[in-house]
Amino acid sequence: MSRTTDVYSGNEDSKDPASGKRSVAFARPVLSGREKEAVIRVLDSGWLTSGREAEAFEDEFAHAVGARNALAVSSATAALHLSLEAAGLSEGELVCVSPYTFAATAEVVRYFGAHPLFVDIEEHSANIDAELLGKALDHAQDAGKAVRAVIPVHMGGLPCDMERIRACAGRFGIEVIEDAAHAFPARLPDGTMVGSTGTACFSFYANKPITTGEGGMITTDSDEVAERVRRMRLHGIDRPVWDRFRRPGSSWEYDLVEAGFKYNLPDLLAAIGRIQLERSSEFHRARIECARDYDSLLSQVEEIELPARPVEEQDEGPDKESEGALSRHAWHLYSIGVPETLRDALISNLAERGVGTSVHYKPLHMMSYYRERYALAENDFPRASKRYRRSISLPIYPALHGGERRYVVESLKQAIVDCKRTGV
Ligand SMILES: *Cc1c(COP(=O)(O)O)cnc(C)c1O
Repeated sequence: MSRTTDVYSGNEDSKDPASGKRSVAFARPVLSGREKEAVIRVLDSGWLTSGREAEAFEDEFAHAVGARNALAVSSATAALHLSLEAAGLSEGELVCVSPYTFAATAEVVRYFGAHPLFVDIEEHSANIDAELLGKALDHAQDAGKAVRAVIPVHMGGLPCDMERIRACAGRFGIEVIEDAAHAFPARLPDGTMVGSTGTACFSFYANKPITTGEGGMITTDSDEVAERVRRMRLHGIDRPVWDRFRRPGSSWEYDLVEAGFKYNLPDLLAAIGRIQLERSSEFHRARIECARDYDSLLSQVEEIELPARPVEEQDEGPDKESEGALSRHAWHLYSIGVPETLRDALISNLAERGVGTSVHYKPLHMMSYYRERYALAENDFPRASKRYRRSISLPIYPALHGGERRYVVESLKQAIVDCKRTGV
C-alpha cells in the first residue's frame, strides 16, 4: 500500500461544496488509509483506553526527538498543567510567559492561583526575548516576588533562543518548561531536537504538525518529573491502569497517593499518532517546500514581510536532499507581516477569494480576561501588539499542492491591489 495515500491527492483544485467556488482551507489534516486501519485495529482489540499503543507511541516519540522520557497525555494544555505541577508551582507565585501565544500557555498558570508574568517578544522571531526575560526576573527579585518557571513558546515552529533562556533561568534558579505545541520536528542550533533536553510539551491537536485529533506529549530528561507526571495524569494512582488489568498475575488492588487528574491518551488516539509519527519526515519536507515556495513567490512583494527563519538557514543552498535534515524550523505556521492599515481588509478580501487565513495571535494582554485581571494596556508589550496588528497566517500543510500555493499567492497579490485602491 502506498505510504502517501491521500496526501498530495492530485493537483485538482479544491472547491467549496456549498458555493462550488474555488477554495483553499487554512488547515487540513493529512490522514490516510493507514490511520484508519490503525484505529480499526484498536477497535477490534477490545482495549480502547491507554495501553500498549500509548506505550509504543511514547517510546517512538522519545526516540524521534532523542528524549529520555516521553509521556502521552490528552492535550498540550494537560501537558503544560502536569509539567507545572511537577515543577511544584504554588498559589501566588509567578511564571514568565510571552503574551504572544495561545490561551493555554497562560491559563495553566492560573489553574494554580499563580500569575503570568508577561515578557515581550523579539521583533523578528515573535519568541520571548531573553534580555527582557532577564530584566523581568531582576524586577521580580527586587520586589521580593517568587518566580517558579518560564514557558518559552517556539512560535510557529521557529525555536526560541534556548541557550540564552536556559542561562537566564539558571541564573535565577527557575524551571524551563517549553511550549513545543508548534515545534515538532524542530531543531536547536546544536543539531539536537526540541524536546531532547529539559521538559517540553507537544500538541497533537487537529491542526498541529502531527495529529491524533486531540492529544499531547511531555518529553523530559528528568526521571523525577516523568515519575510525577505518570502518577498525576491518571488520578494519582500508584501504577498504570494497564498494569492492573493486563499484566499476568497483577492484582486488582491499587493505592491512591495523590489527588491527580484524568489526562491519559487513549490507545484509539495513540494508534493514529504512531502512524502520523512515521510519516512526519515526509510531512516536514512538504511543509518546508510550501515555505520555500511562498518565500520565492512573495519575496518581490513590497508590502509583505516574510517570516523569520533560523539564522544559519538564511543562506543555505538549495540542497533538496538535506533540507529535511537541516531545517530547524518545524513550519507549523507561515505568518507574514502586512501594512497595519490593510490587514483586516486583506483577510476579508482573501476570504472572498476562498483563501482561508488566520491570525497568530491576538496577544493575551489584549484579551479582556488578562487585560482586566492584571490592568494591562496595549502598550505594555508594544512588540507583541505591533506584530499582532500586522500579522496574517497563510495556509501551510503537507496536502497544500503547488497549484493551491500559487493560487494563495496570486490572490494575495490581487487583494493588495484591491485594498490599496479602495484605500482601506
Ligand atoms: C495548540 C496550542 C496549545 C494547546 O494545545 P492542545 O493540545 O490543544 O491543548 C498550547 N500552546 C500553543 C502555542 C498552541 O498553539
